[in-house]
Amino acid sequence: MPRIHFLDVTNRDGVQTARTGLSKFGKTMVNFYLGKLGVAQSEIGFPFLFHEVPYVRAQVALAEAGAFGDLRLSGWTRAVAGDVTASTPLGLKHYNLSISTSDQMLRNKFRGKFDRAAVVAEMVGAVRAAKEAGVATVGVNAEDGSRTDFGFLTEFALAAKEAGADRVRYCDTIGGETPGRIGERFAKLASAVGMPVETHCHNDLGMAVANSVAGALGDLDAGQDAWINTCVNGIGERSGNADLVSTILALQNGFGVADRVEIGDPLDLSWARRFAYWAAYAFNQPLAINQPGVGRNAFAHESGIHADGALKDHRNYELYDEDVLGPFPADWHERRGRVVLTGEYGGMAGFRHVMDGLGVTVAEPELTFKLVQLCNASTGRPLTDDELRLIAAYPHQLALLYPGLLA
Ligand SMILES: [Zn+2]
Repeated sequence: MPRIHFLDVTNRDGVQTARTGLSKFGKTMVNFYLGKLGVAQSEIGFPFLFHEVPYVRAQVALAEAGAFGDLRLSGWTRAVAGDVTASTPLGLKHYNLSISTSDQMLRNKFRGKFDRAAVVAEMVGAVRAAKEAGVATVGVNAEDGSRTDFGFLTEFALAAKEAGADRVRYCDTIGGETPGRIGERFAKLASAVGMPVETHCHNDLGMAVANSVAGALGDLDAGQDAWINTCVNGIGERSGNADLVSTILALQNGFGVADRVEIGDPLDLSWARRFAYWAAYAFNQPLAINQPGVGRNAFAHESGIHADGALKDHRNYELYDEDVLGPFPADWHERRGRVVLTGEYGGMAGFRHVMDGLGVTVAEPELTFKLVQLCNASTGRPLTDDELRLIAAYPHQLALLYPGLLA
């Protein structure tokens, strides 16, 4: 039976969002939390960018050391052979290669540089370069796929498959899709090509989660696995991408959906609150009070009839149990009153005090303390308990983030 997998793009689409950003250490934490949540794959960034290279090396080392569980790490590049050959020596085993496919973009973005045939030729060259370099799986992204002529989209996807691609990513780049249409197009494309079609849905109409679910159902109807792109807290270009936690909750609890899908990833939502609140803190973008699952009001009842009903049986007014979302973070640095912290300008006494207080075993105090200083310098805000724990557990791998200083 075909199954659903998650491919989170917070570390690519999420971090390229205007007016926000994450340090490379912050991006590392995203991969850590994705591993804890059990999603299949993280699109970790742009390996051809000079400032991502130490970060990519650190992630590969962390994954090998087991810091991210079974999470697969993938890189994003343009579907251009030169980008691919510049990236593959870094050791990522999975890639998504992206090129625009709609007439709108061919005419008004490429402006005659590429016609349809040239787009296919560039993409095929990039897929072959990746496969020749030993990349394990390749997804090919049809940017603006939702505005792409269906016949050409099929031709593009078939050429990708023939060149060795494993999936095609259908990008609803401007977020204009609707659930009925995307479901139909996915089912048609996946069965015509015989390969999973990956969702990449933007939220310009507030339908990114609905479209992701509908697209995935289209894959399943065609007998193919489904791959769903998400971002933590729905962050992403403009109005964002499909929210990770909402999409999982929809597939696990949606009427008419939950009982007909099988999720292929070992998901563990007991990290959902910790991840969502960490991400709100790290991106400096507060969670909406009504954010599905993790917002402050997701399980709050005040009005008379609802409160009375919820007191009698919370299932009268709640779709899912709050226990599944795990605990809220209770970070050391959030303590009120007298508190000793550790960070960029701290010393060994404060560092030892905090680590002892958290019950963290520090096998390599000198290196770990320097990393606490450097990571705090890069985030510019107090480190969280999960961050301190990761630093203490994997100092040698994290040192790769700071070549010339520690590595
Ligand atoms: Zn996008």
